[in-house]
Amino acid sequence: MEDTYLHKGLRKKLVDEINKKGINDQRVLDAINQVPRHLFMDSSFIHFAYKDQAFPIAANQTISQPFTVAFQTQLLNIQKSDKVLEVGTGSGYQAAVLIAMGANVYTIERFKVLKMKAQNLLPKLGYHPHFFYGDGYEGLPTYAPFDKIIITAAAAEVPKKLMEQLKVHGRMVLPLGNNTSQTMTLIERSSEHDYNKTEHGLFVFVPMLKGKV
Ligand code: SAH
Repeated sequence: MEDTYLHKGLRKKLVDEINKKGINDQRVLDAINQVPRHLFMDSSFIHFAYKDQAFPIAANQTISQPFTVAFQTQLLNIQKSDKVLEVGTGSGYQAAVLIAMGANVYTIERFKVLKMKAQNLLPKLGYHPHFFYGDGYEGLPTYAPFDKIIITAAAAEVPKKLMEQLKVHGRMVLPLGNNTSQTMTLIERSSEHDYNKTEHGLFVFVPMLKGKV
C-alpha cells in the first residue's frame, strides 16, 4: 500500500488533465490530487490508475472515470461537514474524494462483497465514511435528511425516497437515463415541495439496480 513519488507525479498530471477538460473548482482538484486512486484498484490495473478512464473492479462493476468523479463532486458544491449520502460505494474512491473535501459521508452498496472490500480499505487510508449494505433506492431514512446526495449508477428516474431525504436547499446529482447513456442531472430542493432540475451533459454509468446481492 505505497504512494510513491511516481504515483504522486502521475496524479498531478491527471489533475492538470481534468482541469483542462473543465474542472475548475480548486477544492475538487486538491481532493483528486490527494486521494491515491491506484490503491482502490486491483493490482493488475495499477498502471492504469492515473489514466482518465473507468476501470473494472469486483462484481462486474467499475471505478468511475476521474473526470466523472470530479464533475459530480463539483456539481454537489461540497461544503465542510456537509452530510452526504452516496449511492454505489463501489471501490470507495468517490467516498474518499468527498471525505478529502471535509464531508461526512454515508455510503450504500448493494453488493456485499464490494461493501466489505471498501470497508476494509478506506480506514487504512484514513478515510472513515459510514458504510451500509442495502438498496440505494431506499436511501437511509434513519440518517436523513442529507445536505447532498450523489448517485454513482445510472437511474431511469429520480428515486422518490431520495428526493424526500434531501434537505431544503440541498443538492442531488445523478446520471439519469437508459443503459446506453445518461444525462448528468442536478436537482436542487428549493422548498419543502419545490425542486429545480438542470442538465449537465452525457455520461455512461453501470445501471442502478433494485435489491441487494
Ligand atoms: N462510486 C463508485 C462507483 C461504483 S459504480 C466508485 O467510486 O468506485 C456504481 C456502483 O453502484 C456499483 O458498485 C453498483 O453495485 C452500485 N449500485 C447499483 N445499484 C445500486 C443500488 N440500488 N443501491 C446501492 N448500490 C448500487
